[in-house]
Amino acid sequence: MCDFDFGPLEAAYDYDAIKAAISRDILRSRKRRMWRYRELLPIDGEPTIGTQVGFTPLVRADRLAKKLGVRTLWIKNDTVNYPTLSFKDRVVSVALNRAKELGFTTVACASTGNLANSVAANAASAGLKSYVLIPADLEQGKVLGSLVYGTNVIGIHGAYDQVNRLCSEIAGKYGWGFVNVNLRPYYAEGSKTMGFEICDQLDWRIPRHTVVPMASGSLLTKIHKSYNELIKVGIVDSTPFSVHGAQATGCAPISHAMKRGTDIVKPVPKPETIVKSLAIGTPADGYYAIHAMRDTGGSCEDASDAEVVEGIQWLAEYAGIFAETAGGVTVASAKKLIESGKIPHDEEVVLCITGHGLKTQEAVVGKCGEPRLIKPSLREFEEQIYAKDTAAA
Ligand SMILES: *Cc1c(COP(=O)(O)O)cnc(C)c1O
Repeated sequence: MCDFDFGPLEAAYDYDAIKAAISRDILRSRKRRMWRYRELLPIDGEPTIGTQVGFTPLVRADRLAKKLGVRTLWIKNDTVNYPTLSFKDRVVSVALNRAKELGFTTVACASTGNLANSVAANAASAGLKSYVLIPADLEQGKVLGSLVYGTNVIGIHGAYDQVNRLCSEIAGKYGWGFVNVNLRPYYAEGSKTMGFEICDQLDWRIPRHTVVPMASGSLLTKIHKSYNELIKVGIVDSTPFSVHGAQATGCAPISHAMKRGTDIVKPVPKPETIVKSLAIGTPADGYYAIHAMRDTGGSCEDASDAEVVEGIQWLAEYAGIFAETAGGVTVASAKKLIESGKIPHDEEVVLCITGHGLKTQEAVVGKCGEPRLIKPSLREFEEQIYAKDTAAA
């Protein structure tokens, strides 16, 4: 286990000991939460924060599979994660448990929105003081989704990279526990639970293809790591798998590097996209994400704002899941990967859908039609709705 340090760290595990200690039966005997895999998470004791997080549904989406032209499609649906409806509840619960073990009393983060929501909520329930720093121009649902918990919300006039730089300075000076700065190694490990759960829910096997939205590239890197760890500790067989990345075209530094065939990630100084949750111009884990994709034969795609909106609508109309803009990125990018044959039509794919659509309503307001308005009268219903609809059918 790593000792606390302000530099970049990677949690270390004794895989032989873990292999001897766990089995499929032992894991399955535990609660259906992300803590089912706690031997592979970097906390010392029993978790006391975020004990309910994880084990979101893995949904088979046959109608969307047909629309996208692929044989088998699964949605890992973190739009219903607890308590703040995004995958960030996973990383925050690991980071805050560790923060508590390390004695921090004030926790904080640099965030594109979802992380702020999760830090605010989990700190509130744990009684920790919190500060969340965000770009000032985030969606209303993301801002309100932090303010409501009584946290200190600091809007920065600037892009995420500037928010992050400021947070590094504050962390160094005041010794607060920034979940994604000085606590980042613990935070990042929490992402692995999404991959552990996918394999668990597929009856202990690794899906052939996984498509993952990327901001810093951390989630993708950690899903790759989670599959390899399950192989290492003997829980799943070593079968071929590919991890693919998805970004928004208006902020696609990792996707562009992949397409250029390099691992040198060129920063995007001014992201321009409706996908604010993924708008990180200087992705900390971009290099590692590129190698994870390449090592597994994966590819990368990116989606324009219009394609993102269509992706959100397809996911809603064909799978019944209302995702935020990052979900639109994932669906639209998967569509391109399937069309280009990078994900073959006759194979199986899991889409990681990472945040709820009610938080980014601006993206689709006015683009999904309007309710048809009538008086509370059966005659009006019959004349204006039923008669027209049956005539149209
Ligand atoms: C944070 C986030 C991601 C992934 O971020 P990484 O920095 O790449 O780990 C994906 N989707 C949503 C909705 C997010 O908030």
